[in-house]
Order: sequence, then C-alpha cells, then structure tokens
Amino acid sequence: MLRCPVCVAKDMVVLELEGIEVDHCIACGGVWLDAGETEILAGRAGPGDRLDRLLRDVASPRGEKRRPCPICGKRMLKSAFGDLSPALVIDRCPTGHGIWFDEGELLRLLSCETCGADVRVVALVKDMFSARIPTTTGE
Ligand SMILES: [Zn+2]
Ligand SMILES: [Zn+2]
Repeated sequence: MLRCPVCVAKDMVVLELEGIEVDHCIACGGVWLDAGETEILAGRAGPGDRLDRLLRDVASPRGEKRRPCPICGKRMLKSAFGDLSPALVIDRCPTGHGIWFDEGELLRLLSCETCGADVRVVALVKDMFSARIPTTTGE
C-alpha cells in the first residue's frame, strides 16, 4: 500500500481496470501512475505509445513544497503534461517511479478530450475517473 504524497499519512486505494492498477487517494483525490504500469502499457500499445513523451520538465514554482515520491521518498520534479495552456503541471519521480496528478490536475486531464488520448494509460485513467468524479457543470 502506497502512501499519498500529499496527505502523507494516508494510504491510497488501488483501482484496477483491464489489469492495470492505479493508486488513488480518497482523501485528496490525487492519482499515482506507477511507471511499471505505464511500461506495461507502453509494451502493449507499441514503442511509439509512451507516456513520457507527453512530459516536459519545468522549473518548480518558488515556495512550493516539493512532494515525496510514494515509492522512494525522493522529492518529485515538476513536469508539464501535454500542450495545455496554461500548462498542466504534474509531479514526477526523479528516478522514474511514476507520476502524480492532484485532483485539480486530474480534472483538467479529464476535461481535455485530446490530451494524451492516444496514450493507453491516459485513456484508461479517463475511463476510470470520468464516472467517479462528478462534473461541476450542473448539467
Ligand atoms: Zn491524499
Ligand atoms: Zn521514486
């Protein structure tokens, strides 16, 4: 059981879809994608379908506390995900254990139909969470 990098003291729950596991913190709504899972997905989907090609390193905002990787505890780096404007900035383990989406970041991902739609793990996360997280439009 992995600890949430934001809540720290909370264990995350494991969600499973099509044999892929994603860790989710009920308390803060964040999601952890393990690199092992994304490699499995990359293998299935072919070498051109890699999650990491969507990531671009960015400078950490001043004064923002960097979060620990839930696997190794190293402070995570900031990466821009896809080409959203303003940038969708997520956390990434410096040794490649995986990536972390805050709830707000996840919601932006879910609301962007084209973001990473061709990457299987992203499509899977959208499938998992679009039903779980209510939309705020009131429609
Ligand atoms: Zn949390
Ligand atoms: Zn790590």
